[in-house]
Amino acid sequence: MTERIREFLRNRREDGPCVVVDLDVVRDNYHAFAHSLPDTRVFYAVKANPAPEILNLLAELGSSFDCASVAEIEMVLATGAGADRISFGNTIKKERDIARAFELGVRLFAVDCEAEVEKIARSAPGSRVFCRILCDGAGADWPLSRKFGCAPEMAPRVLELAHRLGLAAYGISFHVGSQQGNVDAWDSALGSAAAIFHDMAERGIQLSMVNMGGGFPAKYLKEMPGVPAYGEAIFRSLTRHFGNRLPETIIEPGRGMVGNAGLIEAEVVLISRKSDDDEVRWVYLDIGKFNGLAETMDEAIRYPILTDKDSDRKTPCVLAGPTCDSVDVLYEKTPYELPVSLAIGDKVLIEACGAYTTTYSSVAFNGFSPLASYVI
Ligand SMILES: *Cc1c(COP(=O)(O)O)cnc(C)c1O
Repeated sequence: MTERIREFLRNRREDGPCVVVDLDVVRDNYHAFAHSLPDTRVFYAVKANPAPEILNLLAELGSSFDCASVAEIEMVLATGAGADRISFGNTIKKERDIARAFELGVRLFAVDCEAEVEKIARSAPGSRVFCRILCDGAGADWPLSRKFGCAPEMAPRVLELAHRLGLAAYGISFHVGSQQGNVDAWDSALGSAAAIFHDMAERGIQLSMVNMGGGFPAKYLKEMPGVPAYGEAIFRSLTRHFGNRLPETIIEPGRGMVGNAGLIEAEVVLISRKSDDDEVRWVYLDIGKFNGLAETMDEAIRYPILTDKDSDRKTPCVLAGPTCDSVDVLYEKTPYELPVSLAIGDKVLIEACGAYTTTYSSVAFNGFSPLASYVI
């Protein structure tokens, strides 16, 4: 936790859980990406946390933006960043949203099939398109495989159609899976991208760009390599597969840009046991899957949790949220160790909550408000 967040929480009077994001950390993260991959443009993945203060800061630092919807495009334009700094990176778009984005000035679009190319050719004529290829997501705690991208063998056909329909066949994209712990996870996708560049050149079409997506981790309970290690591994793979003819490159960090910048303060609502011989305590917080901690789904993301009593002995607990829905359990398969002295009414601090918390909150399911958010 940063001193600024500590100070903010000391003075906060409102009730209920909240996330506090420190912009100084976001600024440091941006510089780490820019420094570790100096010839790569950064497109911040807006969905990770679209708070206007974060978008304004990143716009000021010179970042570009990966948007998934017209609403996200409008949020970025509201910062004053031009549409030339926006990529419409969702491969699943309504044609009228493509037309609206085009009207707003966006000229860079993701595709992963021929039908999407046809929509863009009709509603955003002349634009640049890049084709997303499938990645298996191995090594990632939050894989994004299957839903997005086509087999690498299919990409040349998709891009050739784009070229025939008057679009600029611009490049290849992929996402190695979110919270990717393996710094070499980019290598095989970069190999596929290079092969597609080669195939397209033989068809007389020069591709220019490789969009290497997100996947850069935040530090939760598990240790993770730092941004420089990712930068070095990616640069090694780029030169291995592209030699001295490196393509233009893009990265789209979401979690890696804002994850470690935010912290949630929550409260213990109840501590109980289910029977006299129950070996674990059930600890219920005022935050759960529906008001901020959706990424505990399948216990995929394991957040560090701090209390004022962490020097006391700890025993395993099932940790759950406050709603009347039995899926609202955070950690049960692998119980969470919490101090025996933890009591009802105690505050807990959940670290690395800057990404995928506010945007994954439901609108008052069971009457619990969406997560309150402060950006300082
Ligand atoms: C979600 C997403 C990202 C961000 O991924 P992180 O793992 O959070 O960095 C980047 N690009 C695309 C296309 C995405 O959908």
